[in-house]
Amino acid sequence: MKKIERIGVLTSGGDSPGMNAAIRAVVRAGIHNGLEVFGIHQGYKGMIDNEIHRLKSRDVANILHRGGTFLKTARSSRFRTEEGRKQAYLNLKKHNIDALIIIGGDGSFRGADFFSQEYDIPVIGIPGTIDNDMYGTDYCIGYDTALNTVVDAVDKIRDTAGAHNRLFFIEVMGRDSGFLALRSGIATGAEAVLIPEAETHIDELKKYLNEDYSRKKSSGIIIVAEGDDAGGAYKIAELVKKDYKHYDDIRVTVLGHVQRGGSPSAFDRNLASYLGIHAVKGLLEGKTNVMVGIIHKTPAYTPIEQSTKHNKRVNPDLLNCITVLNAYENNLDFNL
Ligand code: ADP
Repeated sequence: MKKIERIGVLTSGGDSPGMNAAIRAVVRAGIHNGLEVFGIHQGYKGMIDNEIHRLKSRDVANILHRGGTFLKTARSSRFRTEEGRKQAYLNLKKHNIDALIIIGGDGSFRGADFFSQEYDIPVIGIPGTIDNDMYGTDYCIGYDTALNTVVDAVDKIRDTAGAHNRLFFIEVMGRDSGFLALRSGIATGAEAVLIPEAETHIDELKKYLNEDYSRKKSSGIIIVAEGDDAGGAYKIAELVKKDYKHYDDIRVTVLGHVQRGGSPSAFDRNLASYLGIHAVKGLLEGKTNVMVGIIHKTPAYTPIEQSTKHNKRVNPDLLNCITVLNAYENNLDFNL
């Protein structure tokens, strides 16, 4: 195997808070190990357009605490074509780049896997997504920050919900996974959480709100994962509204992209720094086509193919927590 001397780093797909901290760690760990590090701007798009620049230690000063990604991110349809990937490869060769570190989610990793096999370039992925849905890591960069953003927003909505006797349906991100919804639901004392991993029964939800729950409370929060099988928050609220008489009002809030931004939490900064260092370490040890994650506080390398194909599952016990934490004397055991 060719000795690795020059590596490229890029952020791709959806951004997440902590990506900057990961870039910084890759650059500094590269320098620490005697490597030259190149920043590739705007993900695969920049690789095709040759937006590639050397990064020195000072270039990544003062970014640790910033959300977004200073390398910018993008989605590239050209990278899905043979021609686009060939151009990307030629640009890497121009800079004598021997290996790549890709910070992103499963789409970015699929592209990386493909490219690496096509052109025999070692690649290591660092999971950066607020959805937390990558198999092979307990946590993805950005999830903890997004979770805290959701909790902060829901707490505020709870105040106004209580003041007006309102029921709120709050939609949170996560694509087809319910990690953000479930954890934020537990952390905010939501009355119910609807996630794609568990079938949503609208009739049960209505029954719960009408017959049992409404006897004890005058306001409520239902967290809806954006990928829920019954639809988004607007659709579910409409379905419930028809037969629901106990609240003065039913309102919907879609939290949207506020969940992607903000200064990364201390947890995400630590995670990103740790994974950045271990991504460089992995490359130098000859690892390729793997994602570096953290499992039980230990760095773990999982083949990229597995990290994207095996759906990480939410712990069903956490769903049960929502039911238990909403228990009242003599209430029924609803399964929403
Ligand atoms: P995320 O990493 O957030 O899941 P996307 O799914 O949008 O983001 O993927 C990011 C980029 O990765 C895409 O715009 C595309 O350039 C590249 N990509 C994804 N899947 C493939 C693939 N099968 N082949 C080549 N490139 C891909």
